[in-house]
Amino acid sequence: MALRDIVTLQDDTPVLRQIARPVTVFDKRLADLLDDMAETMYAAGGVGLAAPQIGIRRRIVVIDISEDKDSVLELVNPVMMATDGEQVCYEGCLSIPGKRGKTHRPNRVIVQAMDRHGDMFEITAEGFLALALCHELDHLDGKLYIDIMEGELMDDPSEDDDDPGDEEA
Ligand code: ZN
Repeated sequence: MALRDIVTLQDDTPVLRQIARPVTVFDKRLADLLDDMAETMYAAGGVGLAAPQIGIRRRIVVIDISEDKDSVLELVNPVMMATDGEQVCYEGCLSIPGKRGKTHRPNRVIVQAMDRHGDMFEITAEGFLALALCHELDHLDGKLYIDIMEGELMDDPSEDDDDPGDEEA
């Protein structure tokens, strides 16, 4: 496994704003990429990472909101099937380091995706996981939370604490 560099908004590349392409080949390269993405997410202290954030225009996401960081969720070609409810979020993003913004997101989502072998599965999520799914799937369409943010971008006052609600994705 290898750590990848995380692209930030300051970097001179359009990749964070481009539509990512579907994955069509489920091979060792994809498996290695998923492993690298998880490792990169953990090393950066994030709860989610989308392939465009490491400069790869493919529809691939990893998420782990568990306390022990041992429950990685891998989503290839994910599709938002349904949303319901509403929650107020304070979102951060590994591609917008040290910042935070207030958003409204659905409180419940149903997402269909493929695993690393190309097998379909569906996940129903609420609360923080629903937020993480919305945030990461947006990355695949070139969208960032600052696009739907209410008010101003805030400096993150709690960069070093362990509150899971304050993590970047
Ligand atoms: Zn993000």
